[in-house]
Amino acid sequence: MPEKKTMPIRWGMIGGGRGSQIGSIHRSAALRDNTFELVAGAFDIDAARGRAFGIDLGLDEGRSYPDYRTLFAEEAERPDGIEAVSIATPNNTHFEICKASLEHGIHVVCEKPLCFTVAEAKELKALAEARGLIVGVTYGYAGHQMIEQARAMVKNGDLGEIRVVNLQFARGFHSAAVEEQNPSTRWRVDPKFAGPSYVLGDVGTHPLYLSEVILPHMNIKRLMCVRQSFVKSRAPLEDNAVTLMEYDNGAIANVWSSAVNAGSMHGQKIRIVGSRASIEWWDERPNQLSYEIQGEPVRILERGMDYLYPEARLDDRIGGGHPEGLFEAWGNLYRRFGLAINGNRGLAPEGIENLVFPSVDAGLEGVRWVENCVRSADAGGVWVDYE
Ligand code: NAD
Repeated sequence: MPEKKTMPIRWGMIGGGRGSQIGSIHRSAALRDNTFELVAGAFDIDAARGRAFGIDLGLDEGRSYPDYRTLFAEEAERPDGIEAVSIATPNNTHFEICKASLEHGIHVVCEKPLCFTVAEAKELKALAEARGLIVGVTYGYAGHQMIEQARAMVKNGDLGEIRVVNLQFARGFHSAAVEEQNPSTRWRVDPKFAGPSYVLGDVGTHPLYLSEVILPHMNIKRLMCVRQSFVKSRAPLEDNAVTLMEYDNGAIANVWSSAVNAGSMHGQKIRIVGSRASIEWWDERPNQLSYEIQGEPVRILERGMDYLYPEARLDDRIGGGHPEGLFEAWGNLYRRFGLAINGNRGLAPEGIENLVFPSVDAGLEGVRWVENCVRSADAGGVWVDYE
C-alpha cells in the first residue's frame, strides 16, 4: 500500500458501546494500523453508561459525550476536533447522524444500511459531494484479500464470460425467537428500528456488495423476490428471503438471505460461474478461493501466495500460511477509508486512484436493492424492473 503520511486521523464513535455487537471491531480496525486515533465518542443510548465506557477506553472525560448532538457541537468548537466519525448505532438513526456529521464537515464511516430509502441515500451522497467529504460503509468482508483476487480474475478473463452468480448469507442464529431475550436481536425484527426489511438488509446486502466489487461491469436489470417470516412474530419483517436477478449481460443470479438456516454458523458464500471456469469463496474460510476450471482438478488458491494477482497482495500483512480473518479485513477497509479521506482533502498518497472501498455509492446500492426486493416481494413475488 502507499506510504501513510498524514495519519492518524482524529476520530470519534457514535454507538458501539459496551456489550454492543459491532463496536469492538470498529475500534480494532480503525486503530490497527494507526490509521485513526480515538479522541471522542457518544457510545451509548444510555448517557451515563456511554460516558463511563468512553473513559474506560481512555478518552478525556470531557470528550466522552452523553449524545451525538453534544459531540458534534462541542467538537466543532475545538481546534483539535474530530475529523471523522464512525456510526455503529441501530439502523433507524443512521440517516440523521450521518447527515448531522456531514453538515459539521466531518467524514463518516457508517454501518449498513446507510439509511432506509434511496431518496435519503441520494440526499447523503449529494451532501457529501457538496462538502467534499468521504462516506465509507462497513461492508467488512470486502477487505479480505481473496475478494481482490476474485475481482482480478474476472477482470483478466480467467473465468470467461460470466453466466451465473450464486450468493447467500444464510445463518442459523435466529431460527427461534431469540429476540425475546436478546436486545441486539430485538430491534432487528422491529420495522421502527430495522427499516423495511430484516435479513435482506442485515445479511443479504453483504454478498451483494461482494458481487459489485468482483463484477463491476454487470448491472442488475430486473429482479424477483419472495420473503417469509418463519418466526411469525417477526412479520411484516422477513427472516428468510430468496431473490432472483437478471443482469444486463444476460447473466442470472440468486441470493438467499436468511437468519433461520438452522445449524449454519454464517453461510456467506459467493460462487461465480463463467463459460470457462468458476470461483467460490466462503466467509467461514476466507483465506481460500476455489478455482474450478472445467475438465481439470479443483485448485484451492491460498491467501498470501506469490501466484495471486498483485492487487490481492497489496493488503498482505503476514505472508501465506498464517490465517487472517475478519479483523484484518476490517483493518484493510479502515486503512482504505483513511487513504480516501486524505485523498479527498488534497493529501493523496501515490496509488489512491485505484482504491476500491465501499463508499456512499455502495451504501446507496444496498438501500436500492432492499427497496426493489421489498417492492417485488410485497407485490406477491413478481419480476420488477430495477429502479
Ligand atoms: P447493538 O444493539 O448490539 O448495539 C448498538 C449500540 O448503539 C449500543 O451500544 C447502544 O447503546 C448504542 N446506541 C443506540 N442508539 C444510540 C444513539 N442514539 N446514540 C449513541 N449510541 C446509541 O447493535 P449492533 O449489532 O452492534 O449493530 C449496530 C449497527 O451495526 C447496526 O446498524 C447493524 O446493522 C450494524 N452491524 C453491521 C455488521 C457488519 O458486518 N457490518 C455486523 C453487525 C451489525
